[in-house]
Amino acid sequence: MKHTKIVATVGPATEAKEMLHALVEAGVNVFRLNFSHNEHAWHREVINRIREVSAELDRPVGILADLQGPRIRMGGTEEVAVALGQTVRVSDIAHAEFLPASHMATVLLDVSGITDALELGHAILIEDGTIRLRVSEKGEGWVIGITEDAGLIKPRKGVNLPDSKIDLPILSPKDKKDLKFVLEEGVDFVGLSFVGSAADIENARETMKHFLPASAALPDIVSKIERKEALKNLDEILSATDVIMVARGDLGIEMPESEVVILQKEIIRRSLSALRPVIVATQMMKSMTDSPTPTRAEVSDVTNAVVDHADAVMLSEETAMGKFPIEVISTMREIIEKTEESPFDDIYHSLDLNTKTEYATLIRSAYELAKSFEARSILLLSMSGFTARLASHFRPEMGMLVATNNRRMWNKCGLLWGVTPYLFEGEKNLDCLMDKMIAAAKERGDLASGDKTVVFLGRIPGEHAVQRLVGIREIR
Ligand code: PEP
Repeated sequence: MKHTKIVATVGPATEAKEMLHALVEAGVNVFRLNFSHNEHAWHREVINRIREVSAELDRPVGILADLQGPRIRMGGTEEVAVALGQTVRVSDIAHAEFLPASHMATVLLDVSGITDALELGHAILIEDGTIRLRVSEKGEGWVIGITEDAGLIKPRKGVNLPDSKIDLPILSPKDKKDLKFVLEEGVDFVGLSFVGSAADIENARETMKHFLPASAALPDIVSKIERKEALKNLDEILSATDVIMVARGDLGIEMPESEVVILQKEIIRRSLSALRPVIVATQMMKSMTDSPTPTRAEVSDVTNAVVDHADAVMLSEETAMGKFPIEVISTMREIIEKTEESPFDDIYHSLDLNTKTEYATLIRSAYELAKSFEARSILLLSMSGFTARLASHFRPEMGMLVATNNRRMWNKCGLLWGVTPYLFEGEKNLDCLMDKMIAAAKERGDLASGDKTVVFLGRIPGEHAVQRLVGIREIR
């Protein structure tokens, strides 16, 4: 049983129900829908299929709706060829008609007023940073940039402005429509692209509340760390968010590529310490989009993320449009299992884990007990998901079986490192929940007669708080 979870992006290569079924069997825990692509009708169809597959297999399968966010793109309709060291005038669609005549090549950004954020020396990175310009002069509604690469500037390509303070709303009008739609569909996670501060997350959470009835549970917010600004504000983002994603694609554009792996380690370490589940994303198995085997560097990348103790690793184009979606999941799963079996993912030194509260200390002692008695598993009840998250952040190598009576929580817990969630919808009796889980786990092979386990009953929100370390239980 692997502890590190797999998030896979759905696309044309994987949209069919049989394929989604096969992917879950191969090891996918959460499917990601990328709202930069496709219509709502397509997303609805895929969501329904995923829910059917989850019910058929009786396995939690989370759905992450990843919003496009305030991405800046090239406007205009013409391609512009540029040479190295050339001056280019950069303006935006709102100012285009007021620009004085010039012989200089002119390109437009699709966000009005965005050049106000550019200062002398700032970088303008086009199409994943393949064409870089450096601002050398600034006017009213335009800047002049000097190219640091030759190439073709094409309409609609993404633009990053890593040095600039960008004040775009975290939800574009399209994002708001998409958010309303995904809330109606009841997805488990919402991905926020280009988060810069805690205020962005609070803003998105308030918008969600506005779209939902007061009593409705919200999906977890996955804050994508991909901007310099987000790194600067990581502590406040960690407090405000539910989940973190190391979005290495854009992060590697905004920051030097050579720093991405170090940043990944730093973000994971701080997420663990803040009790926030963390996903490592982008280019993990990229060559398997076209090839049945990974490069050695990709194997090393997945191993490294497991050794870093990420909760989950993510695939994008590999499963969205790749030729080998099943193979990529099986390969990734095998790398995860081999790494977890090895001693190299053990935590040798004490991480800065959250043992500061009484409750955390209690869970830590459940883990210590499980180690001393060589328990097969730690058995937990978790209705709000908090107990599961807290136990998981200690990364107990024996893994945790978690019973819940809430379907949304079942899916959310599927993302957590080392957690195998069991659902008994509507069951309120704690002892019954535990007994039902043990019976189901025996049937599934997660437990066997004679196994020692450590049982911990978590707090039940709204009722008399239960904080009990029940102790060792031998499975009969
Ligand atoms: C990334 O930039 O790594 C990422 C996951 O975001 P997206 O693929 O949505 O650009």
